[in-house]
Amino acid sequence: MTADTRQPAPPAPDLGTSVLARRVTLADLLEGDSFKEVMTAFADLYRVGVKVFDASGHKLVDIRVGNSQFCGYLWEFGATRQACTRLVTGLKNDPFATRDGVEVARTVDCFSGLRYVVLPLLYEGDLIGRLIFGPYMPQSTPRLPDQLYQIEPKLDRQRADALIEQVRRAPDDLVAKLLTNVQKIVDVLVFTSYRSMLTSQMHIESVTASYHELEAKNRTLKENNERLQELDKLKSNFLATVSHELRTPLTSVIGYSEMLLEGMAGGLNDEQRDYVKTIMEKGESLLSMISQILDLSRIESGNLRMDLSDFNVKDVLRHATTSVIPQCQKKGITLDVDIDGGLPFFRGDKDKIGQIVVNLLGNSVKFTPQGGRITLRGKLWTGPRRHKKRVADDGAAMLFDLADETFVRIDVQDSGVGIPPEKIERVFERFYQVDNTSTREYGGTGLGLSIVRSFVEAHKGEIFAASEVGKGSTFTVLLPVS
Ligand code: ADP
Repeated sequence: MTADTRQPAPPAPDLGTSVLARRVTLADLLEGDSFKEVMTAFADLYRVGVKVFDASGHKLVDIRVGNSQFCGYLWEFGATRQACTRLVTGLKNDPFATRDGVEVARTVDCFSGLRYVVLPLLYEGDLIGRLIFGPYMPQSTPRLPDQLYQIEPKLDRQRADALIEQVRRAPDDLVAKLLTNVQKIVDVLVFTSYRSMLTSQMHIESVTASYHELEAKNRTLKENNERLQELDKLKSNFLATVSHELRTPLTSVIGYSEMLLEGMAGGLNDEQRDYVKTIMEKGESLLSMISQILDLSRIESGNLRMDLSDFNVKDVLRHATTSVIPQCQKKGITLDVDIDGGLPFFRGDKDKIGQIVVNLLGNSVKFTPQGGRITLRGKLWTGPRRHKKRVADDGAAMLFDLADETFVRIDVQDSGVGIPPEKIERVFERFYQVDNTSTREYGGTGLGLSIVRSFVEAHKGEIFAASEVGKGSTFTVLLPVS
């Protein structure tokens, strides 16, 4: 018995059309290797060859038993070779006769006296392939027919008789029974395979559909993201250019106001002094806003330059208080300064640290009502970071993350309006203001704290706030001492 394993691969299933709408093929339905195994066992048991083709003539199984040498001998001669080719083509392609519209098996006699039975393979009324059983020698044929030697007189009778002995002799009623069995086996295989194929294909189809949907959404998201990034870049460039261009004339406005106030262009009466003072103050607050926007655009474009040096933190803190003393006096706010004499020299960007403290103090003055109190504290402090505590997702990780570090710790505490607990983290976002109504009481851009946070993070530090509405807020900056 020989099984032909050199068959071309069956056509790949078409995933474009739904399995429910697609016409199933035999290759779809029968799991190739196990079907071949069943057919091989069957051919082995009955010692008769089996071939299976799908509806488009694609060969799925080819098991030859016993007839190879006899058929090979006939193949050596021109006339028998031709007759053999004709017969095999007919076996593969000739249409079946039908009974009540359903294809039925047919028997095909070979010119050599051998016999084949061709069985239609049906699924739900559709012809999906054919099974060719044979060749076998019908029991009723005692010897090779004379017509064989008429077709090819060169055939040697003795040799042909010896070779035909290797071919199975079988009575037709036994063959009919065998084929009923085969038919049942194939039906069961097709039925169970179709069910599992349907399940797996439906699964693949639904996964593929979700994948395509996801892919399309992803593409849109990516495009939108690219567009947003482009716009963001444009906005940053625009802000950088505009604010830079605005600063120059504004510095002149402030400079000339100062000169007027100092009487460099002659004396001013009280009313004139008040007007020029207002011009100067408004100019300064405009300049600080523009500087904030410029800082932000530098941060966003990744162009934040750090000017590092070793400096005395105590001096920076003291200097920062001078910028708010006049406003504190105006509002009757008490400013306490508690700076630890043991603060070490710190390596960082001195101007940015100064800007951080001025900003926090400025906010405290802004959000603290008349007669309040502000305290600025500076000290060396050893402890854990807040941020790591917050992000740790389990107790063990938290313990690992809680390693103590030494920081320069700056606290700015006020007795001001406070911040509601649900908004306390948001105040560090760009443009976020607790009161964002058009009638809001306090001026500002909502950029200060986001810039402060970037500056703190540029020093690998962290900033956080604690607050109680109506009682006041404390902003804490931790700058690690490396
Ligand atoms: P701006 O002060 O220009 O509005 P910030 O980024 O500095 O912007 O602050 C954002 C918001 O955080 C403020 O608008 C205010 O609502 C709140 N905030 C900041 N500091 C304080 C403070 N010391 N007390 C109460 N609220 C504050």
